[in-house]
Amino acid sequence: MGNPHILVVPFPAQEHAIPLMELSQILIKHGIKITFVNTEFNHKRITNALGKEPEGQVHFVSIPDGMGAEEDRNHIGKLVEACLKFMPGELRQLIEKIKQTDDDEITCVLADMTLGLGVEVAAELGIKTAALWPPATLLLALILNIPKLIDDGVIDENGTPLKHEMIQLSLDSPTMSPSNFVWMTIEDFTTQKIIFDLMQRYNKAIEKVEWLLCNSTYNLEVGAFASVPKALPIGPLSKLDKLGNLEVNFWPEDSSCLKWLDQQPPRSTIYVAFGSITVLNPTQFQELALGLELSNRPFLWVVRPNVIEGKDDAYPEGFRNRVADRVKMVGWAPQRAVLNHPSIACFISHCGWNSTMEGVSNGVPFLCWPYFADQFLNESYICDNWKVGLRFEKDESEIIRGEEIKSKVEKLLSDENFKARALELKEKTLNNIKEGGSSEQNLKSFIEWVKS
Ligand code: UDP
Repeated sequence: MGNPHILVVPFPAQEHAIPLMELSQILIKHGIKITFVNTEFNHKRITNALGKEPEGQVHFVSIPDGMGAEEDRNHIGKLVEACLKFMPGELRQLIEKIKQTDDDEITCVLADMTLGLGVEVAAELGIKTAALWPPATLLLALILNIPKLIDDGVIDENGTPLKHEMIQLSLDSPTMSPSNFVWMTIEDFTTQKIIFDLMQRYNKAIEKVEWLLCNSTYNLEVGAFASVPKALPIGPLSKLDKLGNLEVNFWPEDSSCLKWLDQQPPRSTIYVAFGSITVLNPTQFQELALGLELSNRPFLWVVRPNVIEGKDDAYPEGFRNRVADRVKMVGWAPQRAVLNHPSIACFISHCGWNSTMEGVSNGVPFLCWPYFADQFLNESYICDNWKVGLRFEKDESEIIRGEEIKSKVEKLLSDENFKARALELKEKTLNNIKEGGSSEQNLKSFIEWVKS
């Protein structure tokens, strides 16, 4: 028997590759060998973004995702179907190949629980299996409750809401509107159904994994962890000691913004970023630009390539000139370092879970702009439970106007209580990864199990 060697299998998307890579770099630090599986398509994106093959102690391999070269990987339904059909066979072959060619065969599969790729294959091959659940644990609690929601007549067999009153899974958890249940936020019914069916398989899949790790902490999600006893928090992953730098960005990271932030006064700057998937319609993009201009503060704005729906440019006329002395725009920021920078005052965020955890771990107050999936849940945590942020209100045409943005920035930043609560939440959250903290203990036990 060789050294412990984990095969890490993320769902092939940016926001899944990041936490799985973070966990990989933590495990490497503890002497565990890691082979990280990307799809060929994503491997190419990562290599293009880096301008070279990723290197370091994590060993990268890539396998096909089962989609044609021209097919749209942003179509979540098609991607999920292709991966589930095609990738298990590829993973089986990969594990066999490693067995024949590597001194250390795969001793454990670490799957991304959102897709569960690798769980069945590992079970078949008698390899021990663990999983990471990258989103909020509350989302998992909701999904595992689907059979009960159907029994109670809250949703039908397709996941369509039959009742519209708010749901609360446990006393400590935010209330949720059934129309915001994660599968309902996907526009077309066929995709909704694919995702809903996938989620209904989680109860069984979870039985097969020995460890179910979450990028979260007990203090943030007391109720959710009580509802899913198997789930163990090990977060916040972004704040744990790692070996090596993250090598899985899909866009080239522009770190010049850190130097720019050094020039800004402490707690002066608005950071604006909407993660890796969200797109804005041109009117909305324009209003956001106006709002940032009206706020009269420095701002660092991540304008990802293709972030504007159907257009390359939707800036208001003369905008760039008028704000030139107080703006920095980048295509992709080193977000975890940005949020840790003393010049940041607040975070205009789409409330993806990674961004939520990163903002919380750095004590940054939020202005919430959720779009779809679990982002509404995370917004409720931020605004209603932890009280470290504010919501934007849309007007009658479903647009968040520039004036609304300006007024919420002022409201958030003129009330010291938001910052005070954010700092208190940060401290409590980081206590989990200190010696003896619950995340630290869970991670330690997990590592012992991997090595045993
Ligand atoms: N991110 C980044 N640079 C950017 C924007 C985002 O590194 O300019 C990272 C961010 O730190 C987070 C991830 O991308 O780890 C986005 O994940 P999240 O769950 O917040 O959003 P999603 O991409 O799922 O919408």
